Amino acid sequence: MNTHYDLVIIGGGAAGMMAALQAKRTAPEFNTAILEKEPRPGRKLLATGNGRCNIANRYAAKEHYFNAAGRCPAFVQPALNAYPVPVILARFAELGLLTKEEDDGKYYPLGDQAAAVLDTLRLHCAACDIPIITECAADSITPGFTLDTSQGRLHAGAVILAMGGVASPQLGTSEGFAGMLRPLGHRATDIYPALTQIKTAEPLPKAVQGVKFKGSVTLAADDAPPMTDSGEVLFTATGISGPPVFQLSREVSRRCRAGAQPTLLLDMLPRISRTELLAELARRRTLPFALADCLSGLLNKRLGQVLLRQTTPHKLDAPAAALTDGDLHRLADAIKAQRLTAQGVAGWRSAQVMAGGLELKDFDSHTLQSRRCPGLFAAGEVLDICGDCGGYNLTWAWSSACLAADSAVRFLRRTR
Ligand SMILES: Cc1cc2nc3c(=O)[nH]c(=O)nc-3n(C[C@H](O)[C@H](O)[C@H](O)COP(=O)(O)OP(=O)(O)OC[C@H]3O[C@@H](n4cnc5c(N)ncnc54)[C@H](O)[C@@H]3O)c2cc1C
Repeated sequence: MNTHYDLVIIGGGAAGMMAALQAKRTAPEFNTAILEKEPRPGRKLLATGNGRCNIANRYAAKEHYFNAAGRCPAFVQPALNAYPVPVILARFAELGLLTKEEDDGKYYPLGDQAAAVLDTLRLHCAACDIPIITECAADSITPGFTLDTSQGRLHAGAVILAMGGVASPQLGTSEGFAGMLRPLGHRATDIYPALTQIKTAEPLPKAVQGVKFKGSVTLAADDAPPMTDSGEVLFTATGISGPPVFQLSREVSRRCRAGAQPTLLLDMLPRISRTELLAELARRRTLPFALADCLSGLLNKRLGQVLLRQTTPHKLDAPAAALTDGDLHRLADAIKAQRLTAQGVAGWRSAQVMAGGLELKDFDSHTLQSRRCPGLFAAGEVLDICGDCGGYNLTWAWSSACLAADSAVRFLRRTR
């Protein structure tokens, strides 16, 4: 292994490979290497978007990003402005990866394969003679730069930190980033799992485990405006899952860690108003059916029966006519505003991203250079940036990687 490089990138994930390609593109004269502690680079990319990779989102802007304290950090904007989504997609197209837009501004590879994204990055790194040194974990960095790795000591003129976060450890993660950076004066925020399932207290989810509905989930709060998201919701043995749940999970995770047990409201029929639903339920009460069948065609049958048991005292073989006005109101509430008490979120293994990371105050958002250690840059999830579900995290990885690479090249040209 060569022991001297102009630029060393720690982490062979989305941000690391993109940063290496960008550095090579702008400064082919600099020799760049990627260190990857796993046997293969980019394992997490393969799992993205359920194997399809939601590669970017048209609407990427600071409103879709949050720091550990739950606020939208202006920090993301310079990178997103310097490398907006159309530029990133054009870059991928140049590399041979074409994309298509789906609902809500989400972009996917034209061939619907996450593996194509990884192949594109990996093959171009190889074509540009950028070594990806696998099974090589960076253990420590000293300014200048000297890196101690699991394969020995390396020297570099500049370093980009692209070692990602702690989420989904089975796909390769970075447990040690805070300890590695502490000797350089870098601080890390509290970290917690995000974009994951929410655990709830009530028996309902377990009773209808596996049932899905297209609806909305609202996170109610006394001290802040409610947050609502819509889409497919799945009941699980311990709570709820699905895209709208993932979207709210970061905030639920943050509040539960502060000791709260926030309330979630599920609307299982958002297309129908409560008044319309009451009228429909009243009409069904007049039909010659048993209660067990009276919600058929409106809700999943098992879900409907569990809700009838939850809200009425009648047996399911009683006639629909047994429903009282009070029953109808309770049923309408159970369908349109089912209350669940969040008790936390699923752990790191099922989380898509890490909320929290390296403290943003220690980096200049216009260059992504460390304010503590010149020549050190950071990109991607290792920073205290967590994006919404929908391609926002990869957008941040690509844009921040390109900006960090440009800045590292400028630094090397100045100091060489
Ligand atoms: C199941 C799943 C699905 C997802 N789907 C999407 C999606 O569709 N769209 C989206 O936008 N986002 C998605 N994400 C999130 C997205 O994958 C991440 O935000 C993104 O990969 C972060 O890129 P990164 O390069 O910063 O980190 P990573 O991709 O995690 O890469 C970091 C790399 O650094 C390596 N590393 C860590 N420490 C060291 C060290 N000390 N030395 C050497 N190497 C090290 C790791 O092994 C890893 O390979 C998903 C995540 C998961 C887990």
